[in-house]
Amino acid sequence: MNANLTPWQFNSIICILYVLFAAFTMEILKTLAVWPPAGVAVAGVMIFGQRAWLGIALGTFFSVLMYFLINNLNPFSFDHLAINISTTLGNTLAALVAFWITNNRFKKHVLLTSVAGLAKTFVFAGIAIGLVSALFGVGIYYVLGLQWIDGFYLGLLNWSLSNTLAAIVIAPALYFLWQDWPHKMSVENSIQLILLILTIALICYSVFGPTYKHLSLPILQPALLLFPLLYSAIKLSPAATSCLNVVVFFSAWIGSNQRWGYFYHHHPEAAEVSMQFFFLFILSAVLLVQAVFIQRKKEQQRLTAFLEQKVEERTYELEQARQEALALSVTDPLTQLYNRRGFFKAVNEQFSQYLRYADSCALLLLDLDDFKSINDQYGHAVGDKVIEKTAAMLIQHSRESDITGRIGGEEFVVFLPRTDANNALTIAERIRKDIAQQIITTDNHQVTFTISIGVSALTTEDNDIESLLSRSDKALYQAKNSGRNQVQYC
Ligand code: GH3
Ligand code: MG
Ligand code: MG
Repeated sequence: MNANLTPWQFNSIICILYVLFAAFTMEILKTLAVWPPAGVAVAGVMIFGQRAWLGIALGTFFSVLMYFLINNLNPFSFDHLAINISTTLGNTLAALVAFWITNNRFKKHVLLTSVAGLAKTFVFAGIAIGLVSALFGVGIYYVLGLQWIDGFYLGLLNWSLSNTLAAIVIAPALYFLWQDWPHKMSVENSIQLILLILTIALICYSVFGPTYKHLSLPILQPALLLFPLLYSAIKLSPAATSCLNVVVFFSAWIGSNQRWGYFYHHHPEAAEVSMQFFFLFILSAVLLVQAVFIQRKKEQQRLTAFLEQKVEERTYELEQARQEALALSVTDPLTQLYNRRGFFKAVNEQFSQYLRYADSCALLLLDLDDFKSINDQYGHAVGDKVIEKTAAMLIQHSRESDITGRIGGEEFVVFLPRTDANNALTIAERIRKDIAQQIITTDNHQVTFTISIGVSALTTEDNDIESLLSRSDKALYQAKNSGRNQVQYC
């Protein structure tokens, strides 16, 4: 739950829950061998931090008050008031010590989902919640010159155990319920949860219920509960598992309350302590398994995300390489114009539309004049510069939609969409003139060069670009024969 509660609001919630759990313990469980309100205190500091102290203090105060009233004792006598204040002080301090131990070491949200965090939770639950509150709660009796029911040391042990147990069982349930609220579950998981609850109810009834002593089958062991609980720890959410822990815990305690079941049958003298230890071991094992699985799942998610990112990066690189390879296969490396393959591919992709709509288009075929002698006279490097310059001039004269290529050594083509013969001739003439004016400066020379251009335009007889090309070729031939540096049309 992501509610932004004011300190008054969350302290009230903690106080009310604390008193309700205390009433439930005294009236329904009828034992002090377990103290569920301690779980409320731990969950309070886990969720809201140390500002939850007031709710814990008030909750304890009212609960002890209620204890005296239920037992027909005057809660405001000096001794009882002193006991109440000392217990309140002890419980509040215990919760704060628990908060300080955990909060300094690791962040709240990993508390019950990492193995290390879980181990720490046990330590603080045992030492802080248990011992600190026990010292104040039992100790005050001796300060007042009174006796605790089962003596000082056994009293400390029992009090510590009852609070530790509560912290382990109740705190995770409250914590996860709060964090995951509203808890969404798939239908399949909900069915599994219901089946697990039924299984647990059946086991609890058989092992902790009134029929145990009649059945007394060797198979009826409290350890049977490990099966549904571990199944939940592995398959279901931490909220569901920790709530099942609570269900098991309370139902066992309610049964034993009537002196029924396994523990009273086998350990009539020490039924409560053996139950305390049983639940301490079994429920902490469930929490531990759950933490290991959550941690492993998180690691797996992290690994999957990492691998997905790697795959994405590789795919991107491959796509880049593919694009580059594709560009190289259709590009002339010297001029960056289309090569022969690229030019015809690009033109053919759109040529049919000119045929279909009888739209005009034209083709220029250009060939540098006496290029061999430029190479011979000035060398290949200068020849290459002439080719590059010519390409630059063609680009300069092209529109966005024109397709320009270098299809031979010093042979170029320009495809002009939506251009009729007259316009094509004008453009060709402009190109020819401009090229004739270019000068390439070498160490000792100023090199000029010219180009001949053959022009053709689409007619109704044309079916493909090749027929235009052959007419442009014919025109180019005429241009060469008529003295070069000129434009011819065919
Ligand atoms: P014409 O006016 O009849 O076209 O005469 P030309 O000398 O240009 O004739 P031709 O087409 O036979 O010669 C082309 C020459 O271009 C031949 C070749 O050595 C040269 N050439 C082809 N590709 C390249 C190139 O990439 N760089 C250079 N420097 N020269 C090349
Ligand atoms: Mg040539
Ligand atoms: Mg030539």
